[in-house]
This record gives sequence, C-alpha cells and structure tokens, in this order.
Amino acid sequence: MTETLTYDCFLCSRQFKFGHGSYETGNFIRPWEIAVCRICYASNWDGIVPSTYPHLIKYLEGRGMPIKLNSKGWLPWPT
Ligand SMILES: [Zn+2]
Repeated sequence: MTETLTYDCFLCSRQFKFGHGSYETGNFIRPWEIAVCRICYASNWDGIVPSTYPHLIKYLEGRGMPIKLNSKGWLPWPT
C-alpha cells in the first residue's frame, strides 16, 4: 500500500505530495509542525528571512516558540 498525502507549503501555499516515493517534494518540519515544499526549503536552506515570511513568525510566536535569529538576522531551521 502506498500512501501519499498532499500538503500545502506553509511558506508559499503551493500544494505538494509527500509520501512513499515522493519524499523529495518537500519537508515536514517536525518541531514547527509545518510542511514546506522543496523549492522553499532549498531557496531558504541557510535561514528564513523573517520579513519575507511574516506569517511564519506570527505562527511561531502564536505557539510560544522561541524565535532565535542568526547573525544575518535570518531564522534558522530547527534541528
Ligand atoms: Zn513552498
């Protein structure tokens, strides 16, 4: 049985499929509980610019998650 789920990218709202055989289409950021498409993940691999994705900052703040920007003022992906 092959299960494929469709997610909306949290950053760009694009839909992508995620499941067996299609792991390369996006990432699930478990600590934040959001799905991010491969394009957004790849283009922001070294950090997310808060002013580009203010809704992400709001979302994390709303969940009481710490927002620690790196030396460039970008938000690093959680590890
Ligand atoms: Zn995206």
